[in-house]
Amino acid sequence: MQIRRTKIIATLGPATDSPDVLAALIKAGADVLRINLSHGTHEEQAARAKQVREVARSLQKEVAILADLRGPKIRLERFSEGSVTLASGDVFTLDTSDKAPPGSQSGIGVTYKGLADDVSPSDLLLLDDGLVTMRVVEIKGRKIVCKVEAGGLLGDRKGINLQGGGLSLPGIATHDIEDIPRVAAMGVDFLAVSFPRNADDMNEARRLLRKAGSHARLVAKIERTEAITNLEEIIAASDAILIARGDLGVEIGDAALPGLQKLITEKSLAKNLVVITATQMMQSMVKSPIPTRAEVLDVANAVFDGTDAVMLSAETAVGRHPGTVVEAMNRICLGAERYADTNLDIDQLQVQFERIDQAIAMAAMFMATHVSVQAIVALTESGSTAKWLSRVRSSVPIFALSPLAESRRRMALYRGVYPVAHDFRTDVEEAQSEGVGMLVQKGYINSGDRIILTMGENTGCKGGTNTLRLVQLGEGGYSQYQPSVDID
Ligand code: PGA
Ligand code: MN
Repeated sequence: MQIRRTKIIATLGPATDSPDVLAALIKAGADVLRINLSHGTHEEQAARAKQVREVARSLQKEVAILADLRGPKIRLERFSEGSVTLASGDVFTLDTSDKAPPGSQSGIGVTYKGLADDVSPSDLLLLDDGLVTMRVVEIKGRKIVCKVEAGGLLGDRKGINLQGGGLSLPGIATHDIEDIPRVAAMGVDFLAVSFPRNADDMNEARRLLRKAGSHARLVAKIERTEAITNLEEIIAASDAILIARGDLGVEIGDAALPGLQKLITEKSLAKNLVVITATQMMQSMVKSPIPTRAEVLDVANAVFDGTDAVMLSAETAVGRHPGTVVEAMNRICLGAERYADTNLDIDQLQVQFERIDQAIAMAAMFMATHVSVQAIVALTESGSTAKWLSRVRSSVPIFALSPLAESRRRMALYRGVYPVAHDFRTDVEEAQSEGVGMLVQKGYINSGDRIILTMGENTGCKGGTNTLRLVQLGEGGYSQYQPSVDID
């Protein structure tokens, strides 16, 4: 049985609100569900989080929730009819006053009241990640009069960027400060910070999140020029990196994007961070039931480059085929993984490990890449060993057994890790033989398999992994372990 290693993140929205559609997404392989705080009401967002927990429980699947902060992004307000279609040459006015009427064919309000002071005639504005573009003609008081260059469909709350960057407001926005306690109350597993400029922005988000009582892990969305300049310090201040190709591509230009995607992936993986590749991966499937070949290659290339997860945005949130797009992504990842290479970088052997669990994990991966093993089984409380194990590219599945639901959900994002519930608040020897027996029963591993086990001598202790074993399973699992060779 080939188990998919690359994880799939699917964004929730109106198209996924029925419990049946949500169940279909999870069954098709969505490991993490993203709640984008830029869309929907507070009530809708909280209801989505609750429904994820309910559906996941009924399907007995370990899925994580990632909440995505709005960030200091400038957006359109709402249209009276939900959207308009603009043609090139149309005059369209962006109104920054407090009393802009609902959007129409002739114009709409915007969320950033200072925009009229920040742009000048002849500036090019890119709306909805550049799908619609318009040139500033003149500023009339609080109104920015524009002429549409590339026309198209423009919907509620779409983003506005200035070509060349530098428009978004600095730091964590006031609405983000208000959203963080709400997100903490929803019990999310990951928090994505939009448009961070530097490590300070990440540290501030972490401080606010911890103050609100959440242990969610922090994801930095790389989507503006300043974040590229400060990439190393952002990596040092984050748990995961999300390559937000939508805004990033608009700010830096599409030609620079492929190289940067590779650079961000490499630098993040080198520092043991989790990497998420996002935006427009299967864009045509918002409408179409099948992906384009270019989309297939885009997803596969992200897998080849070692991303932990690939993400769907509009494809699931407002798409026509939310379940089908996850199925397609699942299929493409599996296909690509048959070609993905394993690597134990020689550089990794030169580093000094600071933590015992990390040293055990690296020793396990050294073994896994030098003898034939069918699985790695990690008994882990916090999930940290599973994270270290998953930082080395390998084709061996990592079964992470944990009694803590919070840890299992977090591990759902790590490449190659399969979280499994296992209550082992007992003796560690019993815990491992029971755990191995359960995996045999589920059909994940078989008697006769050679497996690597990691565990801590003291169960109930987070980060306590200090033991590594290489065993060959006898009939019925670990308890009947037999040496594989005769000893004379
Ligand atoms: P968004 O971020 O979907 O919140 O805009 C992703 C991106 O910019 O690519
Ligand atoms: Mn963005």
